[in-house]
Amino acid sequence: MLTNDQMRAADFKGDDTITIKTVEMPKPGPGEALVRVLRTALCGSDFKLWHKGAEFIAGHEIFGRVEQPGHALDGQRCAIYIPLHCGHCEACRAGNSQMCIEVSSLIGWNRDGGYGEFVAVPDNCLLPVPDDIDDDLGPLLLDTIGTSAHAVREAERFLPRDAERPVLVTGAGPVGLGVVLALKSMGYENVHVSDPNAARLRIAEDFGAYAHPVGSRDKRFALIIECSGAHQARDLAIELVLPKGVIVLVGENAAPWTIHEDKIFRRKDFAMLRTFYFPKSDFEANVELLRANKENYRRLVDDAFGLEALPEKFARFAAGETIKPVLAFGETR
Ligand SMILES: [Zn+2]
Ligand SMILES: [Zn+2]
Repeated sequence: MLTNDQMRAADFKGDDTITIKTVEMPKPGPGEALVRVLRTALCGSDFKLWHKGAEFIAGHEIFGRVEQPGHALDGQRCAIYIPLHCGHCEACRAGNSQMCIEVSSLIGWNRDGGYGEFVAVPDNCLLPVPDDIDDDLGPLLLDTIGTSAHAVREAERFLPRDAERPVLVTGAGPVGLGVVLALKSMGYENVHVSDPNAARLRIAEDFGAYAHPVGSRDKRFALIIECSGAHQARDLAIELVLPKGVIVLVGENAAPWTIHEDKIFRRKDFAMLRTFYFPKSDFEANVELLRANKENYRRLVDDAFGLEALPEKFARFAAGETIKPVLAFGETR
């Protein structure tokens, strides 16, 4: 039996083990709000914590409802923006809230996140979500739509939008598929996708992309958005990018990556960009993106379950059996 100041939460213990335990309720500090978690989407970047263990409650794709009487947003459903940010440094003032120079903590990484019934978050991390977006789709506004659409918008600083431009997306996980949907709804017609997983590739094709065999060298691309994090995919991108083209590195990899300065690399003008998460100012446009493609985005959410099932469901997700499963909390208390 839980007391009023206790809740249930996941404990990532390392060695691919998660247990569910009872912990103290979070206590919001000044300038923070208590959020009842409604959905937290599972994310491949959590594998690190699954292997090595987490110091804090994990979970960083959080959608919930503010439950704090007297708070300006009490009762409002919000997506939780995970980078803490000061709001007044040079980066924040320029609108780059995800790259704040003063604070670099991330919710779900350096402080408690969404694999628990409640979470305390700074007020400036609350992103109100309109009523027509249902709970299951709410968390997609973060990594799946936010990170993906930001990668495309950054590329467009160097390559103006052109429907015919050949684009390759490497990796058809949730972010790669998110990039495909973002590209398609921004008008790109010539989108190719590579991924060793046939089921994921089929979804990309249903979204209007062309399958590009992994490792194939028979086409060149003006824009390559690398979402797998695999070194081989990055190397191949350097080879396949057209002169004056752009590579965007979205996928992450903790192992060092060596760039070979051979003639393929040396004898070409091209831009290589890294993009991280998204600025808060993108949020409204991202809600529009979701609205315009609700049924496509819904296909990515292929499982929903309660907290007690997380250990088993996380293992299935890590085995590549699901794309964007969501932890769904009941409101029984
Ligand atoms: Zn994520
Ligand atoms: Zn700042």
